[in-house]
Amino acid sequence: MSVTHAPEGAVDVLRRQDPELAEILLGELDRQATTLQLIAAENFTSPAVLAALGSPLANKYAEGYPGARYHGGCEIVDVAERVAVQRAQALFGAEHANVQSHSGSSAVLAAYAALLRPGDTVLALGLPYGGHLTHGSPANFSGRWFDFVGYGVDAETGLIDHDQVRALARTHRPKAIVCGSIAYPRHIDYAFFREVADEVGAYLIADAAHPIGLVAGGAAPNPVPYADVVCATTHKVLRGPRGGMILCGSELAERVDRAVFPFTQGGAQMHTIAAKAVAFGEAATPAFSAYAHQVVANARMLAAGLAAEGMVVTTGGTDTHLITADPAPLGVDGRRARGRLAAAGLILDCCALPHDDARGLRLGTAAVTTQGMGEREMERIAALFGGVLRGEVDGRRARAEVRELAGRFPPYS
Ligand SMILES: *Cc1c(COP(=O)(O)O)cnc(C)c1O
Repeated sequence: MSVTHAPEGAVDVLRRQDPELAEILLGELDRQATTLQLIAAENFTSPAVLAALGSPLANKYAEGYPGARYHGGCEIVDVAERVAVQRAQALFGAEHANVQSHSGSSAVLAAYAALLRPGDTVLALGLPYGGHLTHGSPANFSGRWFDFVGYGVDAETGLIDHDQVRALARTHRPKAIVCGSIAYPRHIDYAFFREVADEVGAYLIADAAHPIGLVAGGAAPNPVPYADVVCATTHKVLRGPRGGMILCGSELAERVDRAVFPFTQGGAQMHTIAAKAVAFGEAATPAFSAYAHQVVANARMLAAGLAAEGMVVTTGGTDTHLITADPAPLGVDGRRARGRLAAAGLILDCCALPHDDARGLRLGTAAVTTQGMGEREMERIAALFGGVLRGEVDGRRARAEVRELAGRFPPYS
């Protein structure tokens, strides 16, 4: 049996052995290449990241940490994990990094496990305002095991209500305060949250799953100097494999490591950890910094374009890769808008809106920027949104235009 590392080669192997699954892989590759991925959490990993993910490191069992494993034969994967940890520490200026979390949610679970006991009070952005499921949803372990209090955003400005955060912290004396969101388009004021946490004796947990890639590229403020624990994903703007990561100071290192393994996870996924190391290596380059800044420039241009088309852009714009907007002035609600845009090949999410019960749209520029698109393409995309949502461009023509635009910027050549 031969092992091949090139993605195309891997598809050939699959096609010979299991055409049914090969069809599915190729169908998804085609979907990603012929539609526009505007889901704010998505991106295109490099072929090098995919090579690490599809490597024989996937076969290795490695419970524990480098130099202290419960399995034999870990001497080589130990090096991979040490490299990943060192690169993450250097990239974010953190004293400690844990790169084993299987996902962003697992990273948050471990952060709570390291710092809290069941029943503790936690202050976090409420789910209707952009909090993640792990920030106290009753459908999630967080809402079941902890007593979450939610802060919100100002209905007019869409900005985090700092006065409310401080007042709720003083009233409820939480054990931890969480800052971070799935939909907040602006930079978070980490110094403010640190100040409030200190005032009430709470831990500060920054859930930087979305902006951590911008942090790596110097295009967003770094939460590491302010938060006790920073949770993140590696697959959003950071452009690595699907997975999570935790950054903290050396005094919490052991608690965090034990909270990941053995408390909430078993064996580490060494192929993913190697792929994280590859992504951290990419993120440390000047090219990635240029990418991160272009992501933000593109998002600003797209937000301005959507506003010019008549949509209401939350907070009036963005500091990041992420935009939320209300299409109601164009005569269509968020859910119907998402469907019409998807039919045209513009793929994005619905989200809650701060000012209304209605649903809005949430989108981001991480993936289209990886494809090489710039401000001119953002103007074109905004015009397509306007045409599709006002019903001026018929579905088939819009789909053809998106296909043509995507075709000029193939994610994998
Ligand atoms: C994406 C995200 C997560 C969860 O990441 P998964 O890998 O999907 O588990 C957690 N918190 C925030 C703020 C996120 O944006």
